[in-house]
Amino acid sequence: LTQKEEYCVLILGLDNAGKTTYLEAAKTKFTKNYKGMNPAKITTTVGLNIGQIDVQGIHLNFWDLGGQQELQSLWDKYYQESHAVIYVIDSNDRERMDESKQIFDKMISNELLSGVPLLLLANKQDLPDVMGVREIKPVFQQAGVLIGRRDCLVMPVSALTGEGVDEGIRWLVDAIK
Ligand code: GDP
Repeated sequence: LTQKEEYCVLILGLDNAGKTTYLEAAKTKFTKNYKGMNPAKITTTVGLNIGQIDVQGIHLNFWDLGGQQELQSLWDKYYQESHAVIYVIDSNDRERMDESKQIFDKMISNELLSGVPLLLLANKQDLPDVMGVREIKPVFQQAGVLIGRRDCLVMPVSALTGEGVDEGIRWLVDAIK
C-alpha cells in the first residue's frame, strides 16, 4: 500500500467570518456518516480547530485558526507547513470588510506563503443583501501584486447551507496537486 499524499490547509479570516462552520460543512460533505456539529452550537474559534478529509485520493489536514486580533499574530507560525490557504470573508459584514482586507494583505505578503494556492470564500451568501463576489473581488484584488503568481479564486459560498462547499474543496485539491 502506498501512503496517501498529505497536505495542510489553513483556514483564515476574521473572527465570525464562518471558518469553523465551513470546516464542519466540508467534513460533512466529504466524510461518510459524519453528522457534523449543529451549526447553532458552533462558536467562534479561539485557538485552533483541526479537521481532516480525504478527497480524490489525498488527505487534507485543516487548521482553522482564531481570527481575533490577539490570535492573528499566531497565524504565521503555521505558514511554513501550509500547502494552501482558505480565506473566509463575511459577505454580510460591510463594516469589517476593510479590516478583513488589511489582514488579508498582511497574510499574503508573507514570503512563507508565496506561490501557495489561495481560495477566497465570499461566505454567508444565503443571507439577503450581502456583498456578492463581483463587489468583493475588487476589494481583495487591490492586492493583485501580492497575489502574484499563484492559483487564486474568489468563490461565493454558504457554509451554513453547504452551497458551494464541495466546489471550493475540489478546486483547492486540483490547485495543490
Ligand atoms: P469563525 O469565528 O470564523 O470560526 O466563525 P463561525 O464558524 O463560528 O461562525 C460565526 C457565526 O456566523 C455563527 O453564528 C455561524 O452560524 C454564522 N455563519 C457562518 N457561516 C454562515 C453562513 O454561510 N451563513 C449564515 N447565515 N451564517 C453563517
